[in-house]
This record gives sequence, C-alpha cells and structure tokens, in this order.
Amino acid sequence: MRFDLITIFPEFFVGPLDHGILRRARETGLVEVHVQDLRVFTKDRHRTVDDRPFGGGEGMVLKPEPLFEAVESLLGASVGEAGAAGPKTAIVLMSAAGKLFQQETARRYAQWERIIFICGRYEGVDERVAEHLATEEISIGDFVLSGGELPAMIVVDAVTRLLPGALGNEASSQNESFSAVAHSECESLGRTGSSHQSRATRHSLLDFPHYTRPAEYRGWPVPEVLIGGNHAEVAKWRLAASIEKTRRNRPDLLPRE
Ligand code: SAH
Repeated sequence: MRFDLITIFPEFFVGPLDHGILRRARETGLVEVHVQDLRVFTKDRHRTVDDRPFGGGEGMVLKPEPLFEAVESLLGASVGEAGAAGPKTAIVLMSAAGKLFQQETARRYAQWERIIFICGRYEGVDERVAEHLATEEISIGDFVLSGGELPAMIVVDAVTRLLPGALGNEASSQNESFSAVAHSECESLGRTGSSHQSRATRHSLLDFPHYTRPAEYRGWPVPEVLIGGNHAEVAKWRLAASIEKTRRNRPDLLPRE
C-alpha cells in the first residue's frame, strides 16, 4: 500500500509515522508513505496556495491549480484521462463536510493499492477539487479541525493496521470495537427475531473491557471469571460486557427494539 499526503506542512508527519505499528509497517515495506509539499506546485514568487473566497466572507481557500497539478504529478497522468487514477487508487479529500469515516470505510480502503490524501487548511478547499479531482470526500467526525493533516494520519493509521501482517496478532483486528458481530452471537442480544435478522447481522459492538495485573488494585478487583481460566465462561462474560458497554456508551450501534 502506498500513501501520498499532499500538504502545506510536510514536517507535520515526521512524528506520527515513526512509532509503533506504522513505523514497523514502513520498515518492513508493507506500506510506503510519501509526503508531498503542495507549494512545489505553485508558480509565483510567494508560492501562493490560497486566495480569497468568491462571494466574500471570512478566511482563505486553497486554490485548485496546485492541488490538481500535485495529484497529476503523483499519478503521472492528467485527471480526466480515462483510468488516470486506476481502479486501485483513491484520491481522498479530507473535509469536515465529507462522508463519515468509519471502521467499515477503513476496511474498504485497505483493499486499495494507493491512497492520495489532500489535506485542506484555512476555510477549506476550492469545491472543484471535491467535484472533479477527489474520488472520496471524507470527514473523521462531527467537529471542525484546523487542517486535514491529523485526519489524514488517522485514516492512514486505521487502514495500515488492517493490512495483513501489520499487527503482531491477526486476531486483534477481528475482535475489536466495530468489528461485525456474528449472527450466532447476536442471538444472545435477545433481539434477533426474524424481522431483525438482517439488521442484527450487520451491527457491531464496542470492544470488551480489558484487565491486566495486578488482580486487585486499590481495592478494585478484576472480574473473578477472567482469573478462573474457563475459556467458555470468559467468552460469555466478554460478549455480555461488550453489549453492556455498547448500551452505555454507544446505544446507537445496537439494533432498535
Ligand atoms: N470551513 C470548513 C472547515 C475548514 S477546516 C467547514 O466548515 O466545513 C480546514 C481543513 O481542515 C479542511 O479543509 C479539512 O481538510 C480539515 N478538516 C477539518 N475538520 C475535519 C474533519 N472533521 N474531518 C476531516 N478533515 C477535517
């Protein structure tokens, strides 16, 4: 998988790419990350990437020309040419007004060979970038940040850890928050009457709570069942705890009654 990050702050990515799973994935060649300074594609002395908004109003808007040229230079083809990006390449515009990025989106992105991220700044990006350049416009949540760099890093991280070989233990990415819950497990939710079946098989739960040593800390004991060594009982407890935690923190993830 190759990630290209188009930004006016190339140094931004020095730290986040250099730790843990991402660092290892880069070192082993599982992912390749290329940071592209947008200002390279400006033509004036001041290396201008932004301009005032048509129609008036606050702030500045990232101009289309450097962004189109940056992407075309990375692709080695003009946008609009048939198959310029190729079926395995995505051009993702980070945008508070985009579609919501979720674990399901990360799973879809993990199938691609290359993702080019466009990181916005200021008031955002000339809309023609969303209309004619990006293949996806993505938000990481219902809040506004000052730039697309952190959001792009979040997507890079979420996608990388799903690539086969990125995690030490492959099971880790199968049994975590937002992974689909098998139908048989859903039955213990007690809500899989025939009318609910299709929805129930699709929903997901939050991860179960994890504990490690010491078995008692400041008078708070670890749940007894986790210490007993009965795997079936542990699995049952974990599913119930997952459901309980989802109900408490994210009831919206559960099928409605
Ligand atoms: N005026 C815009 C916000 C611009 S914030 C609006 O109201 O929607 C500047 C840049 O930060 C955006 O262009 C985008 O690239 C990035 N950004 C801000 N919030 C984001 C979010 N929730 N998800 C993804 N990118 C975001």
